[in-house]
Amino acid sequence: MLFKRSSNETPEKKAGLFERMKKALFATKENLVSRIESVLASRSTIDDEALDDLEGTLLQADLGVLVTERIMNAIRQNHRKQLIKTPDDAKAEIRRQLLSILTPKASADSQEIESALQVWMVVGVNGTGKTTTIGKLAARISGEGKRVLVCAADTFRPAAIEQLSIWAERSGAELVRSKIGMDPSAVLHDALSAATARNSDVVIIDTAGRLHTKSNLMQELDKMRRVAGRKVPGAPHEVLLVVDATTGQNGLAQAREFMKFTGITGLIVTKLDGTAKGGILFSISQELGIPVQFIGIGESLEDLIEFSPEAFVDSLFNEGEPI
Ligand code: GDP
Repeated sequence: MLFKRSSNETPEKKAGLFERMKKALFATKENLVSRIESVLASRSTIDDEALDDLEGTLLQADLGVLVTERIMNAIRQNHRKQLIKTPDDAKAEIRRQLLSILTPKASADSQEIESALQVWMVVGVNGTGKTTTIGKLAARISGEGKRVLVCAADTFRPAAIEQLSIWAERSGAELVRSKIGMDPSAVLHDALSAATARNSDVVIIDTAGRLHTKSNLMQELDKMRRVAGRKVPGAPHEVLLVVDATTGQNGLAQAREFMKFTGITGLIVTKLDGTAKGGILFSISQELGIPVQFIGIGESLEDLIEFSPEAFVDSLFNEGEPI
């Protein structure tokens, strides 16, 4: 990925981001960790009844069945081995499991691909926050002194194209926009030619998200991938799926659909501010095994945070700023 953990971030900026994330995750923390704590707080030891209560609590907290099973299996096993005796031991195991779910296994794919021009496709259902997120990403990359070109390839939504041009202007990015009804792959082709001619560093492509024409949409995305690959070596270098956290387990169903057809390389989970359903992050990571790259915690340009599993789990468990 282009973004290395920003080495030029000052300690003050890092601490500020951590505090903002903690604030945004407050409702999720209440729904998940505070409930776990209240189930455990009333007991001095862990017995079968406590384990059953804990299981029920995890299931209700938008973690989904697979994550709950994984956590409970680990706790039951360690309980049998006498490694978990107290409520604190159980809480520590939950924390450990949650962190390991979010920590992607190292793979060959995670190595940075050497290419002068990076091409990122952003996919997801309409309304999840795709356009806003592209604006935030463009601002972030421009802020690092790189040239960004945004390609408005959702050729069926005039409003999306308009909105994207506003975001592009705000974030200092260039824009290649389509005419309504144009073939998205043709727009992409033009955008990649423009990016090469203008020496851009990154092209971010906004794609359509009409779920009611699912098979057409998936074919369209597939065609765009092929066009990108023919124009730029290794492209698309990232296919980022935007998921709206407020949709809870529905977000997981969407992720499954896109995963089947478009080969997602990373997730962006939006609207974590003001929802109690942030547990969805664990569900999706556990099932699909793709890394969360960014999280959205608000509507303005700076409300996009590069995802760190440690910082996320620490802010849920009310711990200090991670080193
Ligand atoms: P698109 O249809 O997927 O392109 O979605 P938009 O980018 O138009 O976003 C839909 C709505 O979600 C807009 O009102 C955005 O301001 C809002 N939105 C996007 N990201 C976030 C976020 O991280 N937090 C909050 N609170 N709202 C967001």
